[in-house]
Order: sequence, then structure tokens, then C-alpha cells
Amino acid sequence: MSDIHANLTALKSVLEDAGSRTPPYEAVWCLGDTVGYGPDPNECVELIRTLPGLVCLIGNHDEAALGMTQLTRFNHDARAAAAWTQDVLTEESASFLKALPSETSVDNFTMAHGSPRQPVWEYILDPRTADANFGEFETDYCLVGHSHLPLIFQRSSADALAISKTVAWNQASPLSPRMILNPGSVGQPRDMDPRAAYAILDLKSKTWEARRAAYEISEVQLRMLKAGLPERQALRLVAGW
Ligand code: ZN
Repeated sequence: MSDIHANLTALKSVLEDAGSRTPPYEAVWCLGDTVGYGPDPNECVELIRTLPGLVCLIGNHDEAALGMTQLTRFNHDARAAAAWTQDVLTEESASFLKALPSETSVDNFTMAHGSPRQPVWEYILDPRTADANFGEFETDYCLVGHSHLPLIFQRSSADALAISKTVAWNQASPLSPRMILNPGSVGQPRDMDPRAAYAILDLKSKTWEARRAAYEISEVQLRMLKAGLPERQALRLVAGW
């Protein structure tokens, strides 16, 4: 999963959806931006750290919440949300986030929030950018987040160009070398589908299953408005942009 963005209700619904499967999931890999935008940064950190086999990366919004990045790099709303997050973040949450790596690898999977070339900030949105990044990691697969868009890029040989693959929902699709995969965003999807996005990765059968989980968006919006977070950021959750 990636880009939870302090949306506890969405995170819980994803865990419920993933947890209702047999066999249950054994590990959670979280590709960054656990906080920022949403109303529940501490609650999300607290829940995340209890999950089995957790691998968690730092994202650009996590860095902003820790004061590790210039807030001028963000637009008006993101900056306001980052400043609010800085204010409410507990010391425990901050020290958890601060200790996270910006990239890592497990088995045959490299992970980065944005891209292997520029782990925290680069967006991989098109085959050209994917191509430039296939040379930046050694494993067969790379998992990224950051764009909030479920995407899959494949390059079948070193001299072939990357192609964008259609994401197949709710079906385990075979992985084949080499791929860059993005599960989309849990807490602020931007593909016009407001449901929380994530994926189930089966290491044994080498499959990727993109999934969506509906959640009670109005609850989150209410908490955002109560907290004084930007109204536009609450409204976008319903439309999924
Ligand atoms: Zn994000």
C-alpha cells in the first residue's frame, strides 16, 4: 500500500478487505506518505506500526511533516496540511517517521516512494519516465507510490521500451520481469475512483492483485473540517482526484 495520507478510515477498510482473505496477509509493505492531507496522522502511524512484517518508507509528505523539506515545494493546500500535521504530530510518531528509509529492497522487489532514481520526489507517470528508471534498480520489480494512481509499467528486455499495462482489478495477474508497479493511494486516490486503492502481492505465485475498498468518506471529511484542514482537500476525496 501507499499514500495513506492520515486517513484512518480508509486504512482500516483496506486492512479489513485484505484481512478477510484466506490465507490472510503475512506482511504489509507501505511505500510512504503515511501522513499529510488527512486528519489522523498519529492514529495512522500507531496502527501501521502494529502490522505484521512491516516495511515502511518515508515519503515527501512525511518529510514535510518532520520539517525535513521546504514547505514552499508544496501548493497552498498541501502546505497548510503539512503545517497542521507538524503541529499535531506526537514525538513518538515523529521518531517513527524519521527512522524510515527512503528506499529499500526485499527479495526481488525494490521499493521507493517516488522512483528508484529519485526516491522521494520523482513521479513515474509515463513509459518514458519508467524507461529512465528501469536502469536505476537491479531487481526484477520495483514498487512505487507518490502519484496516487494505480499503474503498471513493463519492460520485457533491456533493449525494449517500457509499456504501460492495464490494471486488472480483483484478479491475480502474473508478474513478469521487469515491472514498476504502483498500488495507488489508500487515503487520497486520484484516478476518479474514491475507494481506497491497494494491491495484494503473492510472492509464491508471483501475482499482483489490484484491489479497492470502499469506506465512509463523510466521517473523514468531518474530521478534516473540524481540524480546520483545507475544505478543498476534504471535497476531493468524494470524487477521487
Ligand atoms: Zn502522496
